Amino acid sequence: MNKCVFLDRDGVLNKEAGTYVYRPEEFIIPDGVPQAVAMLKRAGFKLVVVTNQAGIAKGLYTRQQVLQLYEIIQQACKGALDALYFCPYHPKYDSESLSRKPGSLMLEKAIARFGIDPQQSWMVGDRQRDLEAAKRVQVKGIFINNEEEQAPDYAHFVAGNLLEAALFIVNQ
Ligand SMILES: [Mg+2]
Repeated sequence: MNKCVFLDRDGVLNKEAGTYVYRPEEFIIPDGVPQAVAMLKRAGFKLVVVTNQAGIAKGLYTRQQVLQLYEIIQQACKGALDALYFCPYHPKYDSESLSRKPGSLMLEKAIARFGIDPQQSWMVGDRQRDLEAAKRVQVKGIFINNEEEQAPDYAHFVAGNLLEAALFIVNQ
């Protein structure tokens, strides 16, 4: 079985902009992110990005643009990321989806594909719905502290950024 760190995108891998991020120039990767990703990779974790992208349902941007930003983060992280799952749907614009966090289908797909043991795995996110999706599949949650939302009480750890989260994980 493999162990995995599931990564939310905005507010974890790139700077939260307070709005939809889909242009390369708005996709800001903080210092410390490539280092954190490398540290987790060295520690033997699969690294899977799971991101809600309802801006597609709203017609703001395309799937191609989501993939373009994934290429940028992959390059910054020297190809260390194993997969990207994104949910393009929104219940008010097109359809309900079990993939949309707090739904856990994106995580379930990765668990099946990579033979992941949830008990040895983590989710790092900056929204309660990220950790709720993880909790549904028994993956431990690390919350990235921010001004928009409080960590849920079942968060395993609250970190200031991805590097702090990665240090916590590898020191377990
Ligand atoms: Mg986020």
